[in-house]
Amino acid sequence: MSTEAAPIANNFLRTIVDDDLKSGKHATIVTRFPPEPNGYLHIGHAKSICINFGLAQDFGGRCHLRFDDTNPVKEEQEYIDSIKESVHWLGFDWGEHLYYASDYFEQLYQWALHLIREGKAYVEDLSAEEIRNHRGTLTEPGRESPFRNRTVEENLDLFQRMRAGEFPDGARVLRAKIDMAAPNLNLRDPVLYRILHAPHPHVGDAWKIYPMYDFAHGQSDAIEGITHSICTLEFDAHRPLYDWFLDNLPVPNRPRQYEFARLNLTYTVMSKRKLHELVNSKTVSGWDDPRMPTLMGIRRRGYTPEAVRAFCARIGVSRSDSWIDVSVLEECVREDLNERAPRALAVLRPLKVVIANYPEGQVEEFEAANHPQNPDRGNRAVPFSREIFIEQDDFMETPPKGFFRMTPGTEVRLRYAYIVRCTGVVRDETGAVVEVRCEYDPASRGGSAADGRKIKGTIHWVSAAHCVEAEVRLFDRLFSDPNPDRGGADYKQFLNPQSVEVLPAAKLEASLVEADSETRYQFERQGYFRADPVDSKPGRPVFNRIVTLKDTWARR
Ligand code: ATP
Ligand code: MG
Repeated sequence: MSTEAAPIANNFLRTIVDDDLKSGKHATIVTRFPPEPNGYLHIGHAKSICINFGLAQDFGGRCHLRFDDTNPVKEEQEYIDSIKESVHWLGFDWGEHLYYASDYFEQLYQWALHLIREGKAYVEDLSAEEIRNHRGTLTEPGRESPFRNRTVEENLDLFQRMRAGEFPDGARVLRAKIDMAAPNLNLRDPVLYRILHAPHPHVGDAWKIYPMYDFAHGQSDAIEGITHSICTLEFDAHRPLYDWFLDNLPVPNRPRQYEFARLNLTYTVMSKRKLHELVNSKTVSGWDDPRMPTLMGIRRRGYTPEAVRAFCARIGVSRSDSWIDVSVLEECVREDLNERAPRALAVLRPLKVVIANYPEGQVEEFEAANHPQNPDRGNRAVPFSREIFIEQDDFMETPPKGFFRMTPGTEVRLRYAYIVRCTGVVRDETGAVVEVRCEYDPASRGGSAADGRKIKGTIHWVSAAHCVEAEVRLFDRLFSDPNPDRGGADYKQFLNPQSVEVLPAAKLEASLVEADSETRYQFERQGYFRADPVDSKPGRPVFNRIVTLKDTWARR
């Protein structure tokens, strides 16, 4: 964990926890992060992780990682492993408090029997569709099922036989007997158990019936001694049911549910279904595609856990739904990387420049600052020679007004090296400029003119004889619309066709050939980059652009 002393902004959850500790309601707080292992975590989950683990950390309590694994059909070990890895990557640790709702299946089953014995649950034979038809609407009460008044004995017998696997999937369910006229639809005899002959990734084929989320969640909280069960706002209407179970079961503890607004981020989609679709349709290269909002994706791209945590702190916690512009996240990444990233020179779209009056075969070394704002981080030597590469768009033959980079007849500074003047160009048969000719001012070593004349532009470069060639991938937002999954629209129509641009032959300063994927660099004037941990080969790195230097979308 970083120990940065950023002030912690207050929020309503912190106030609640603080009050509960001060009043003595709880001696210590226990929270949990409860993912369902049916996909990979995304940046929205990071918000929930930071809230739950963050509260525990700040108030000296603990936070559990609990897999809410009640639907074996969609759940897989692969997701379990990846979720654990992502939580650790974000910088949080559950210690010994790793739990699975499926470990409580026997206790939950016993509690279901308890409800049956108390006359508060019954076995339902109606089909799912008939149950829906009986449910009523917000303005009309539901209708009671003809099976609602089965005897306790009959219910016990049928439920035990459901568990034993006597009936096919969907034949029966167990329902709570609450109130078919309740204004809150969640209280109209909700389903507690369904029959599912499916193996479970954690408990194997032990069960033929599985509890519904609502029946598992609060009771799992109670078993673990959770004090503050924090979830997103859509569970607001489930809270009365959450409380009903706790009121009607002999649970060992009394957790309370609190809801906060989920993270909605522009230019992205976060629904697991849509993320699955993007992967399955090969629109992206996988769950860890650097354009994905998954924690695996942003991690591979080069976002740091510190930046993600800073983002979660910045957006705060509230109870009102809102949209956060993705530029806020990108800005957090920039701020973090600006501090940590050593600088490097890299030419992404190279144009050769020959310095005609520079002695052939001569090589000089210039001192380049690793971090100009932070001289303590030292310098490195960058070699300079007669042939260099510059960025194609740092040269213009007929420049518009205000263009201060390389152009025929005017002088420009080569970062750290010399002042050069462009004297002409070499063209190919189509007339395109393939090489620029220059002359340098030998008295300008280091970049300033001996007579003090002002040079407006400074451009970066690499020595042709010393640079390494590498593939560089420029990632951009996956969607070109701020709200790709706005009501009804097909989000795929908003895919950004320029979300990745591959530059096969960028020219990088030689030191980058050894770049390890842990180091994020600032390529001067370009942005922040890191060697891709998957596709880089020894001596042949592939660089990902993590984020540009400035928010280029603000100007589009
Ligand atoms: P599903 O549709 O499969 O339920 P989910 O995104 O809710 O998807 P869970 O695994 O249930 O997935 O989520 C784990 C926890 O993360 C839950 O407490 C959930 O409320 C929280 N969470 C999910 N999405 C967001 C989000 N966008 N912002 C904040 N918290 C979120
Ligand atoms: Mg969920």
